[in-house]
Amino acid sequence: MIELVGFDADDTLWHSQNHFDAAQAEFEAILGRYLDLSDRQAHDRLAAVERANVRLFGYGAKGMTLSMIETAIELSEGRITGQDIGRIVDLGKAVLEHKVEVMPGAREAVGAVAARHGVVLITKGDLFHQERKVAESGLAGLFHRIEIVSEKDMPTYRRVLAEFNLPPERFAMVGNSLRSDIEPVLAIGGSAVHIPYASTWVLEAEHKVDLESKRLLTVDALAAVPEAIALLAERAIGEPA
Ligand SMILES: [Mg+2]
Repeated sequence: MIELVGFDADDTLWHSQNHFDAAQAEFEAILGRYLDLSDRQAHDRLAAVERANVRLFGYGAKGMTLSMIETAIELSEGRITGQDIGRIVDLGKAVLEHKVEVMPGAREAVGAVAARHGVVLITKGDLFHQERKVAESGLAGLFHRIEIVSEKDMPTYRRVLAEFNLPPERFAMVGNSLRSDIEPVLAIGGSAVHIPYASTWVLEAEHKVDLESKRLLTVDALAAVPEAIALLAERAIGEPA
């Protein structure tokens, strides 16, 4: 059986990546004043800088902004103006200030799951930004607990489950990221529901998920999550703990 269900937030319960994608497009337009963007140089270089910086800055818009500035200085060979650095900072602020757009059916899906299981929100990114989005979403009251974490890997999920005193076999995670929401949960013995989102950040696109796993279901909308959890709960009964 499944006792606890975790929900991812960004691009699962509300839109997020579209704002980062818009900032990236604007960033490349700024850089286009300094270099030829006909190849994917700016795009690929920013991804590489972000990858290297995640361990220092963590995830989220503030880290992205600093990585954009670093990339701009490097690719423009120091020619980027103060005015354009200011524009890049404003791109980061716009991501931090965007209004939270809750996905259709989010409240109903979390509510239906919460009627039968414990529910916990597990999200990563800038603490301050995530706290504001959780509050603004109006969904916080549906959850028994809210966990804002710096990384979503096996140790993090094990820690959260230990706090609930729950074996992983009785946990299912719902989210859009195969790398952060699905792979580590399946790896520790839990179940998962994947809801793909239209756009995936390049660092989240890397994963080693067994898409044939009996403990994984893929759905196309939040409305299908309660039924998917019920099916995974049935399968979990049939398997030795
Ligand atoms: Mg997500």
